[in-house]
Amino acid sequence: MQKKIWLSAPHMGGSEQRYIQEAFDSNWIAPVGANIANFEQDLEIYLGAGHVAALNSGTAAIHLGLILLGVQAGDTVICQSMTFVASVNPILYQGATPIFIDSEPETWNLCPIALEEAIVASIGKGKKPKAIVAVHLYGVPYKIDEVRNIAKKYSIPILEDSAEALGSSYRGQKCGTFGDVGIFSFNGSKIVTTSGGGAVVTHSGKLKEKAIFLATQAKDDAPYYQHSEIGYNYRLSNICAGIGRGQMEVLENHIVLRRKMHAFYVALFNDIEGVTVFTVPNSNYFANYWLTTILVNPLETNGITNEDLRLAFQEENIESRPLWKPMHLQPVFHNYPYYGATMAETLFNKGLCLPSSSNLTEEDCIAIASVVLKLFKK
Ligand SMILES: *Cc1c(COP(=O)(O)O)cnc(C)c1O
Repeated sequence: MQKKIWLSAPHMGGSEQRYIQEAFDSNWIAPVGANIANFEQDLEIYLGAGHVAALNSGTAAIHLGLILLGVQAGDTVICQSMTFVASVNPILYQGATPIFIDSEPETWNLCPIALEEAIVASIGKGKKPKAIVAVHLYGVPYKIDEVRNIAKKYSIPILEDSAEALGSSYRGQKCGTFGDVGIFSFNGSKIVTTSGGGAVVTHSGKLKEKAIFLATQAKDDAPYYQHSEIGYNYRLSNICAGIGRGQMEVLENHIVLRRKMHAFYVALFNDIEGVTVFTVPNSNYFANYWLTTILVNPLETNGITNEDLRLAFQEENIESRPLWKPMHLQPVFHNYPYYGATMAETLFNKGLCLPSSSNLTEEDCIAIASVVLKLFKK
C-alpha cells in the first residue's frame, strides 16, 4: 500500500520547537506568556490592520465574536448555509436562532440576493437580524462589496469567518479585516496550525481587551476572584502560540505551495470534460486555495461522479472529501429558516475537495494524477 496522502496535513517550518523551548525555559507553560503576545503581533503585522486576540479555537473566536457584536438569547443571526458547522454552533450557544442563506455560483459564498431577501423578511416580521456570519469558503473571498453594501444598508454587523482564508485578500486587503469582527482558525487542517487554536480580529484595542477578558473567565480588577460577567476559558496556550510563531514564518510559503497545488489541478483537469476546478472569479480576488475543490458533472463525464473519484482515491490511500454539507440540510438544523434556491445543495452533490497539503511531494502528485487519468480516460 502506498503511503497515505492527506487532504490537508500539518506542515512545520522548523522554528516552532525553538519557540516552544522558550516557553519551557521561561516556565510559562500556561495560557499566559510571551509567545501569545508575539503571535498576536505577528498576525497584526501580517494583516496590516486590526487588533488580534489569540484563542484556543476558531469556534471560540466565533462565539466571542458574536458576544462582542451583542448577540443574545432570542436574537436571529444570518449565516451562510454552505460552511463548516463551527460557523453556526456558536449562534446556538448564545441561544439565538440561525437563518441560513444559499450560495452564489461565483464564490460559493453568501448569495447577496437571498441575503437581502432574508433581511427584508425578518424586518417584516418585526425582528432585524443581529449579525451576519459570512464565510470565505476554501479560501475564496465572498462577494465583499455586495455583502458589505447590504449589511450597511440595514445596519447589521458582519462576523467575517476567515477560518479558511488566512492569506487570502480582496482588492489587496487581507481577509479577516473586512468584518466588524473577523476570526481565524489554526486547527490541524488549516493553512497554518497551532495544533488547535484560533483568533478574533477586532477594530480597536479596547475590543481586543474585552475579548481577552471574556476568554479568561471575565475576572474583575480585584486581588481576589470576583466576576460581574459570565466568562469563558478560551485563551490560547503559550505552548501552542509558540507553534503559531514558527508557522507565521512559513505562512507565505504555504500560500505559494497551496496555490501550486491548485495550478497542478487546473492543468490536470484541463482536458477532462465535465470537471471544473473552483477558481476565483476575477483578479480582485486572491485565494490562498486552502483546499482545491472541483465540480464533477456526470452528464459530461460518461456518468463518472464525484463519489466515484473519491472512492478511486481511497483505493490508493489518497484522502479526498465531499464539500461541506449545507447547514439547512443537516438533521440538527433542519427546522431553521432558509433563503435561496438549490445552489449550495448542487455544489454539495457535485463537489469534491482534493488533497491540497503544502507538503505534498512530486511523487504524491504523480499518484494523484494517475488515479484521475485512469478513472476519466478509460
Ligand atoms: C475550521 C473552521 C472553523 C473553526 O474551527 P476550529 O476547529 O474551532 O478552530 C470555523 N469556520 C470554518 C468555515 C472553518 O473551516
